[in-house]
Formats: sequence, C-alpha cells, structure tokens
Amino acid sequence: MRAVVYRGANDLRVETVPVPHIGANEMLVRVAVCGVCPTDIKKIQHDTLAPPRIFGHETAGTIVKLGARVRAFRLGDRVALHHHVPCMDCHACRHRAFAQCPQYKRTGITAGFEPSGGGYAEYVRVMSFCLPGVVKIPAKNSFVEGALLEPVNTVLKGVNRLAVLPGDSVLVAGQGPIGLMFTKLLALRGLKVIATDLLDARLKLARHFGAAHSLRADAPDLPEQLRRRTRGRSLDAAIIAVPVDAAVEQALALVRGAGQVLLFAHTKRGSIAPVDLSCVCVDEKDLLGSYSADLTLQPAVARLVFSRQFDVRPLVTHTFPLAETAAAVALAAKPQPDSLKVVVAQ
Ligand SMILES: [Zn+2]
Ligand SMILES: [Zn+2]
Repeated sequence: MRAVVYRGANDLRVETVPVPHIGANEMLVRVAVCGVCPTDIKKIQHDTLAPPRIFGHETAGTIVKLGARVRAFRLGDRVALHHHVPCMDCHACRHRAFAQCPQYKRTGITAGFEPSGGGYAEYVRVMSFCLPGVVKIPAKNSFVEGALLEPVNTVLKGVNRLAVLPGDSVLVAGQGPIGLMFTKLLALRGLKVIATDLLDARLKLARHFGAAHSLRADAPDLPEQLRRRTRGRSLDAAIIAVPVDAAVEQALALVRGAGQVLLFAHTKRGSIAPVDLSCVCVDEKDLLGSYSADLTLQPAVARLVFSRQFDVRPLVTHTFPLAETAAAVALAAKPQPDSLKVVVAQ
C-alpha cells in the first residue's frame, strides 16, 4: 500500500509499505479521511520522535478486515478511530487523568513502524486496546465529520475544566480550527465568548461560530475593550488556543479574581515564561492545562457532531490527496487567511 513515511525533520516521503497484519482482536480500516493536527506538525517539524514513522491520527474510514474475536463491528462499517484509549483502571484513570494513563500514552493505531497513528496511509491496523474508542459513523454523516470527533473531544475536555456559569464571559485567544471549536462549544453552553485573532477572516468566522464579540488580538486598547464588553466585571476565564506566551501573561492579568486561564496550545517542552505568582496565590486565579482527549466524553461528542448541533464541516477548507500530505502539513503549519482545518482524503 502507499503511505507517507516520516524520515526525519520536514522529510515526508510517499513510499510503498506492507498492508498491516491484524490479530484476532484487531481490525483493519481503509482510511478515507485523516485530519492534519498541530501535534503532528510539531513532531514532523521538530524531529521529537525517531523516524521512520507514519503519522496521522484524526482518522475515519471503512472496516475491511476483522479479527475472528471482534464481535461489535461488521465489515463495511464506516468508523471514526481513536488512537489513544485509557485503561480505566490505573491510578491516573481513577483520578480521571486519562491522558496521564500509561496505556493511553501508547498509540494503538498503526500503518507500520513504531505505532504513530498511521492515518497518512491507505490502511491502518487498530489494536485491541483501541477498539473501545471506535465509533460508527451514521449513514447520513461524512467521513470528515467522523475524523473531527477526536479534536472536538479534546476541546470538550478543555471546556469541562472550566468552573463557569451560563452568561459568564470567556476569552478565546486564537481562532484557528481549535479556537473556533472552543468558541462554538462555549457558545452552546450559554457562555459569552470574546474571540481574538490577528486574521480578520477568522474574526468574522468566530461570529458565525457563536462569539458575542471578536476583537483583534493586537489592538493596543484590548484590555479596555474587554472591560467594556464585560461591563467592568472582566473575564471569568480565558482559553489560550495559540502558542503565544504573551497571551498567557495578558490573560492572567485580565481574568477576574478566582478566574481561570486554560492553556491548550503550549505543547512545546521548554517554553518558560515569567508569571506573577501572587496572581495565583492572592488573586486565586487558576492556571490550568488540558491535553488530548477523554474517552468517556466520546458519546457526547458523537451526539454533538453527528446531530450537527455542532456542524464541523465548515471548518474544513482544504482537502489534499494522500500523495500531497507534505503540502497539507505545510499549509496547516502556515495558515493562510482562507485556510482552517486541512485534511488528507483518499
Ligand atoms: Zn490531534
Ligand atoms: Zn489507566
């Protein structure tokens, strides 16, 4: 089969590799769509994991082979995959810290080499421990909608970390695909979203996704504008969906006492920023993080997306064939005014 193999920093090559073999408790899925995720871009550009690997983890496709002991699925089922699944039993899982579970940290979907998602290939093998994460896609829904369950799940998990009440004001800094997902899910919860970005096209879109206000992140009077739009109460929470340290510092200053700042894009190790620690201690502001998905949210995520209460389709602006995965990654890494979510489709 054809696959896009990572051979080193910024080196993706279309190669021919064997179709994966599956065991009795596993399945083989023909990939239809795989979303390009910022965490893959980071791994491809910064050479954080040893090559060779086949990346791509926002995967949807069709089951073409089933192990003899798999009962819950049939050949031909259209499915969305989940490459990380927690054991639900360890110390981390008992604390619902699923992304810290040792099993969760293993990737259970592969197209060959060290399991790394495999979505940038024609077929992927789904290992037994990842079967609980497989979701059937209803006939009326598209593979793209299936592929986007994973990022929506990560965003819903982040939203659930906030201690906010309906009507509260939440800043979402950055209106890329993830920021727009936050804007939409928070708006659906009855929160007043104030969206910021540097691209006017994205600010306009944010309004379509439910933002009450959208403001340029570089406006010199941004703090004043925020105070006015929260009627002097300032922000209840802020979500930082861009890897910009200055945005964290600014958000910590702008949220009210006992407000929350949630980091969602600071995934690069070694990024160090000064924080006035008294705003945590004296002002009781929380600095939180959220990473990756929560399997227990998957039914709620599937309902939101498949019912189109959250219609994710407008998020996808560019579709590339498998052979042009490198171009898809390059575009997702350097967004253009008209680009949002980029997917590879076969
Ligand atoms: Zn992802
Ligand atoms: Zn666990």
